Amino acid sequence: MRTKLRRLPILLAALASVFAVSCAPVESPLTLHEFDCGVIRFGSIEMFGVGDDETDVRDMIVPCYVVEHPEGSLLWEGGLPTALAEAGDWVESPPVLLRLDQTLADQLPGIGHDLGSFDYVAFSHMHFDHVGVANEVRDATLLIQQAEFDAAFADSVTVPFFDPSVYESARNLPRQLLNGEHDVFGDGRVRLIPASGHTPGHQVLFVDLEEEGPVVLAGDLYHFRESRSGKRVPSINVDSALTVATMDRIEQLVIDGGAQLWIEHDMAAFLERQARSTAYR
Ligand SMILES: [Zn+2]
Repeated sequence: MRTKLRRLPILLAALASVFAVSCAPVESPLTLHEFDCGVIRFGSIEMFGVGDDETDVRDMIVPCYVVEHPEGSLLWEGGLPTALAEAGDWVESPPVLLRLDQTLADQLPGIGHDLGSFDYVAFSHMHFDHVGVANEVRDATLLIQQAEFDAAFADSVTVPFFDPSVYESARNLPRQLLNGEHDVFGDGRVRLIPASGHTPGHQVLFVDLEEEGPVVLAGDLYHFRESRSGKRVPSINVDSALTVATMDRIEQLVIDGGAQLWIEHDMAAFLERQARSTAYR
């Protein structure tokens, strides 16, 4: 009898823990949706520090992402400028060709969203192929590094491949200016990580998915696989030394976190993923 009584507290504790687990709220899983937001076709890719004879790749996919978290939603990247879709074909924009078959606005209803339904919006950087819907986003808080904001909305813009007209309305969104890493939903699973060098306040997005595992959406830290394997710095980057230091820091983060790194413009990787799924959990 004494033996049984001594075990009673242990039994009660075990029951309590089972009860706590079974009564915990069921949270919707973290989900990453991936969209085709255009294609850029190059004649030469030498400007990226990659020789034209090193790869046959000349097309870059331009993806957009939506992160669904139990605490809210985040639009990551804005694709090519929406107006390009009107052509329904390749549009010449020397030295490249641009193509946008379907606007993001037309694709979002498929996942129950529109450009006014996001809690947050963040772009890796200000270049025209990453902020294409910036003027159409409504009621979301812009999460932007201070250095990027200062460069994008300065009186005289010095960053190449930036078209202020495409980005102008983002100036009026409610915003949170960042000076470093930012935990978007407060649980460490969706984090903006500064990765400057391509532009003054370039950033990447870390998403800790349950089935897919941790993923780093690398913005334009790299453009081609050769960019990553050979640490190539594009000639258009605002700071070469800083770019290399950033590459090293992000690669260490990838190793430490056991993460995948997605080179956003990697068309072949994009197509492989899309053949599997368009929503990653
Ligand atoms: Zn880009």
